[in-house]
Amino acid sequence: MADAPRVRYVVSGCLAGLACRYDGGSNPCAAVIRLVEEGRAIPACPESMAGLPTPRLPCELMGQSVLAQDGRDLTKRFLRGAQLALRAAQSRGCTAAILKSRSPSCGFGRIYDGTFSGRLCPGEGVWARLLREAGFALFSEGALPPELDGMDEA
Ligand code: SF4
Repeated sequence: MADAPRVRYVVSGCLAGLACRYDGGSNPCAAVIRLVEEGRAIPACPESMAGLPTPRLPCELMGQSVLAQDGRDLTKRFLRGAQLALRAAQSRGCTAAILKSRSPSCGFGRIYDGTFSGRLCPGEGVWARLLREAGFALFSEGALPPELDGMDEA
């Protein structure tokens, strides 16, 4: 009997080691980097795809709006980047995502609460919502897919 096709993942670029985080850093995750090296995952950063610079001011979701720390409303930019990143994932045959937790783009379950105080609240980032609505299975660096158990050790 033929093996079942393996799941293909889209992953938050910063988890794959790309320096796309708002402060110019990254959040490398060994299991995610290995998936990319094995050709089973593609990295994407919706905020970079929105044309936002790196570094950039931190942003948080306040209700349905994405606000930068200086009060600018970046909701439309974030949505555009999320749509582009969703399309990129779909066009490469991805059906699951491993996303950076707490981000206003990538977080799901709990995200920063919009007060820029480090507090969390229930919610999901703009890209995470589009991926979920498109039927993607969602995972995070803290809750990896079961098939990757043990791979997060460097
Ligand atoms: S938008 Fe997502 S991929 Fe890009 S830096 Fe933020 S958490 Fe990482």
